[in-house]
Amino acid sequence: MDSFDVLVIGGGPAGYVAAIRAAQLGFNTACVDAFERDGKASLGGTCLNVGCIPSKAMLDSSEKFEMITHEAAEHGIQVDGARVDVSRMLSRKTGVVDKLTGGIAYLFKKNKVRSFFGLGRLVRQDGDGWIVDAAGTEVRARHVIVATGSNPRALPLAPFGGHIVENSGALNFESVPGKLGVIGAGVIGLELGSVWRRLGAQVTILEALPGFLMAADDAVAKEALKQFQKQGLEFHFGVNISRVEQDETGVSVTYTEKEQEVTARFDKLIVSIGRVPNTGGLGADTVGLALDERGFVKVDAHYRTNLPGIYAIGDVIGGAMLAHKAEEEGVALAEMIAGQAGHVNYDVIPWVIYTSPEIAWAGLTEKGAKEKGLQVKTGQFPFSANGRALGHGDPRGFVKVVADAKTDKLLGIHMVGGGVSELIGEVVAIMEFGGSSEDLARTVHAHPTLSEVVKEAALAADKRALHM
Ligand code: FAD
Repeated sequence: MDSFDVLVIGGGPAGYVAAIRAAQLGFNTACVDAFERDGKASLGGTCLNVGCIPSKAMLDSSEKFEMITHEAAEHGIQVDGARVDVSRMLSRKTGVVDKLTGGIAYLFKKNKVRSFFGLGRLVRQDGDGWIVDAAGTEVRARHVIVATGSNPRALPLAPFGGHIVENSGALNFESVPGKLGVIGAGVIGLELGSVWRRLGAQVTILEALPGFLMAADDAVAKEALKQFQKQGLEFHFGVNISRVEQDETGVSVTYTEKEQEVTARFDKLIVSIGRVPNTGGLGADTVGLALDERGFVKVDAHYRTNLPGIYAIGDVIGGAMLAHKAEEEGVALAEMIAGQAGHVNYDVIPWVIYTSPEIAWAGLTEKGAKEKGLQVKTGQFPFSANGRALGHGDPRGFVKVVADAKTDKLLGIHMVGGGVSELIGEVVAIMEFGGSSEDLARTVHAHPTLSEVVKEAALAADKRALHM
């Protein structure tokens, strides 16, 4: 029987990163992953195969189309007869995914991580280790890392199938749906709704919550909603869906909004109402692995489960269901197993929505900081006063800095605008070092760049913005 120091179950961002880091630290490591794409093993989990990467590829393609059809003329570029070739767009997206998933297989080889394709199932304890069925072969491991990720949450009224799809279906429509319904105005609903709207679909987003992006800063959410509505995305908040019926040609959704019953008809319906932990096939019951009431694997601050030598990380333990959070947990855990001081700073995790404009934030909102009893000062600066943004032809949005009124420590950063997914990086680095808004304000930023808006927002927190 093969024996490993570390066996990782799941090859998504949590699992593959944990495996690589464990191997770097000198552990004899293996990873078993069951993800299959087009009948073939494909490492990288949800993120690389049907999540972060393909959605961004489609967002980029569709944004280029929108640019050509709606914005090029303003730059003095006349393009007539632009049209979308959906199958070409999908095959480009698949090419990007192939490249990256293949890259992980290469990294495993390079780092001597043994890869098994198929289900990993916990079988029994064996001395100070565990026997795991790795894709039909029993192996022994001293440390087992559960990184089995998450699956889309289904709406009982609207089970997936036919015209009702989750993320992977929504990334593979063969043609642009005329009318597209989206249930859930969260990150995934907004991104996928944006892709198909740009390509020509009429998109209606139905949200049960009474407001928009309630986790984001109020000012950011308000600005983003205004921009999305201007683009033609139709939103309905506070809806209560009572019936979903599909036939050969589409889906009818009946919902109540402001006490009025409405039935809407769509060609396709995306259900994006969150994700649930994936522990099916893991053998959690067999070995007595403790799950919480929502099905997440229970862990302590060191990612230890109730069973000695078994750890869990990534989406399957809950918290922020983000690839970078999962990756950082992978690194931290491998280092902890090696006796080092692995650490993830959960207070400074960037959240990004890759719509147009993009939305990004980290740390506390102004409201959240006040609710914690902190005295705050804020500074806000618009992209409309920035030369580079005007040059781009995209003056939408702003950056808002939230700092402690007494100590000036940066507590939060909130952005809506073009390219903010990249701008947030410098601020989280400063926050990671416990920096102040003055640190940000005194850092030299290249001119002309969008990043000057971040600096000016920090200056504005001290009422000394220079260009407003
Ligand atoms: P996963 O990526 O889900 O990987 C788990 C792996 O384990 C899978 O390959 C699964 O097949 C395998 N597995 C499960 N059970 C077993 C078993 N018993 N044996 C063997 N293998 C098993 N996050 C971001 O940070 N940025 C984004 O832009 C972003 N965009 C997204 C867009 C979409 C449409 C979706 C759906 C998600 C997006 N996410 C994004 C979220 C991100 O994909 C997840 O947070 C991330 O993939 C979690 O990583 P993970 O390793 O915990 O789980």
